[in-house]
Amino acid sequence: MRIPVFAANWKMHKTVQETTSFVREFSALVKSLTQVELILAPPFTAIAAAAEIARNTRVDIAAQDLYFEREGAFTGEVSAIMIRDAGASHVIVGHSERRRLFGDTDEWVNRKTRAAVAAELTPIVCIGETLAEREAGQTEAVVKRQLSAVIHQLTHCAAEMVVAYEPVWAIGTGRTATPEQAQAVHAVLRAQLQAATGHGERMKILYGGSVKADNAATLFAMPDIDGGLIGGASLKAADFVAICRAAG
Ligand code: PEP
Repeated sequence: MRIPVFAANWKMHKTVQETTSFVREFSALVKSLTQVELILAPPFTAIAAAAEIARNTRVDIAAQDLYFEREGAFTGEVSAIMIRDAGASHVIVGHSERRRLFGDTDEWVNRKTRAAVAAELTPIVCIGETLAEREAGQTEAVVKRQLSAVIHQLTHCAAEMVVAYEPVWAIGTGRTATPEQAQAVHAVLRAQLQAATGHGERMKILYGGSVKADNAATLFAMPDIDGGLIGGASLKAADFVAICRAAG
């Protein structure tokens, strides 16, 4: 039995003050949601404040990215150790916006995943195909390639890694994968995880891409979908809670 995980990716939204009021409101609203794991990923600037308020609540804090070096002359970058020090327990790696806008390659995603694991942060590794790749019938090959770039890290951290399948064409577009489309990819990924690690049944695989309260229940009822990574619909506490409840 895998406990569902719901993670909010706020991208470049929310000040420190907006973050702290969200965490207060959200943690009060989710007190009764005992059978789910809840993660908020604010911008770097708000991680420490969010972690302080989330302490002793049911909410964990994540960063949205990291750099794989420990320290040094890397202007603008933030290391896994710094993220851990700020109070986060998780970090998103390989989000399609990082891959598309900032040039993160499979190799970088691998190095970032390794750095996260070494700092005892749980990586949430994002993979997913573009619309062109889906239309060319390459979905399975693309997600398998992206997962295989990090899969060997799993042998070191067992179930302490979360995979998020996020079809690029569904992120922020209002166009969601159907539950059947998403389940088909999740089943492929679980089989790949099982073959590589022997504990694929324990691994959490989240779906992300235009999830809202009204499509959450059918998506999260699928056998291999273990929760969601939510962008736009996680910016208001009531909306995000509605998604977590719909799934529950
Ligand atoms: C995301 O950014 O990871 C995401 C899934 O965004 P949205 O829910 O807005 O599609």
